[in-house]
Amino acid sequence: MSDFPDAAARLIRAIDDWPEAGVTFRDITPLLSDPQGLAATVSALVDAARAFGPLDVVAGVEARGFLLAPLIAEALGIGLVPVRKAGKLPARTLSESYSLEYGDAVVEIHADAVPEGARVLVVDDVLATGGTLAAAGRLFERAGAVVAGNLVLIELPALEGRAVLGDVPLTALLEY
Ligand code: AMP
Repeated sequence: MSDFPDAAARLIRAIDDWPEAGVTFRDITPLLSDPQGLAATVSALVDAARAFGPLDVVAGVEARGFLLAPLIAEALGIGLVPVRKAGKLPARTLSESYSLEYGDAVVEIHADAVPEGARVLVVDDVLATGGTLAAAGRLFERAGAVVAGNLVLIELPALEGRAVLGDVPLTALLEY
């Protein structure tokens, strides 16, 4: 895919009024199911991840961060940590609540998910209001890690999520 990210953007589908009225949902499934689109996206994400400097862990946010983070972690030769919705992790957890573009939620990690001082890159598909990535970042800080950065495929700048992330750098491959 030579004209990334424009070609990738053409493969991302906008679904109006889903999951509720007023939200335009950015559906990345057509991009993921396209072999060239997937390869170009992973390559761009890995390049962007490397630009954050040395990393120890890639964290993927449930659910669609799970589709991207493992590919990045494997390419970088480092480990993967899932950031899950409440009640899914079996061992002792840390929890943070936050507000979404649509509704409220809680995210969790295992309390022992990361070593002290580990440099973590947090990955999700979309940055909207920023509440999800900010909550994930608080989890890793409480666990004693350092959030080296946030990496998303898509940023929705009109929702000003970047401001919610404070000093933690964010890279987005696409904007709508
Ligand atoms: P936020 O916490 O508001 O930044 O919302 C980000 C989370 O909600 C991500 O996990 C996204 O997968 C999801 N999300 C929010 N808005 C959208 C949207 N318009 N299209 C697709 N996913 C979205």
